[in-house]
Amino acid sequence: MYLKSIEVQGFKSFANKIVFQFHNGITGIVGPNGSGKSNVADAVRWVLGEQRAKQLRGGNMQDVIFSGTENRKPLSYASVGITLDNSDHKLPIDFEEVTVTRKLYRSGESEYLINGSSCRLKDINELFYDTGIGKEGYSIIGQGQIDKILSGKPEDRRELFDEAAGIVKFKRRKNTSLKKLEEEQQNLVRVTDILSELE
Ligand code: ATP
Repeated sequence: MYLKSIEVQGFKSFANKIVFQFHNGITGIVGPNGSGKSNVADAVRWVLGEQRAKQLRGGNMQDVIFSGTENRKPLSYASVGITLDNSDHKLPIDFEEVTVTRKLYRSGESEYLINGSSCRLKDINELFYDTGIGKEGYSIIGQGQIDKILSGKPEDRRELFDEAAGIVKFKRRKNTSLKKLEEEQQNLVRVTDILSELE
């Protein structure tokens, strides 16, 4: 599996639709300061479901929408799509190629799509569990992140190892089941109370 292309429109400094094509191997993005290199990495984080504006170097989520320049009016929405080669079927979906798209309108309305079909953020998170690609994945290492990992709490470091070992989805399922079990136990206590009142 590898990243084949990124399509951005109205995202940060990219007002016009632009497509970055990648090939298997190493690609470098070079350019003068402030030309938008980090915005490309932000676009990938964002489409993978990042919800924290600060992680995208903004104050609120609407800051990712092109805010205009002297010669150009602000745009009303931002859209980013990434296409991954899935011929090795590392992503648990029956397609050779997977495109994940996220759109955000100034009104606050947002949309996620997998191969053109609307989906929930949860579906995108689940698609990338244990692949290292999700928004918390280790495949995007930002500036200063190595230091943060090395000096971070052991529990936080453990999350990286869990992802690499492919056990995150099982941990999440376990937590969901434990929560349900807890709720059922509460229900049982209530039923027992009612029964004893009736007796
Ligand atoms: P450096 O080499 O200094 O790290 P860079 O090439 O990584 O720079 P970025 O940080 O990706 O550059 O891009 C910064 C540019 O993006 C700035 O010119 C900023 O004005 C522009 N920018 C960020 N958000 C928006 C937005 N919502 N609308 C328009 N332009 C934006």
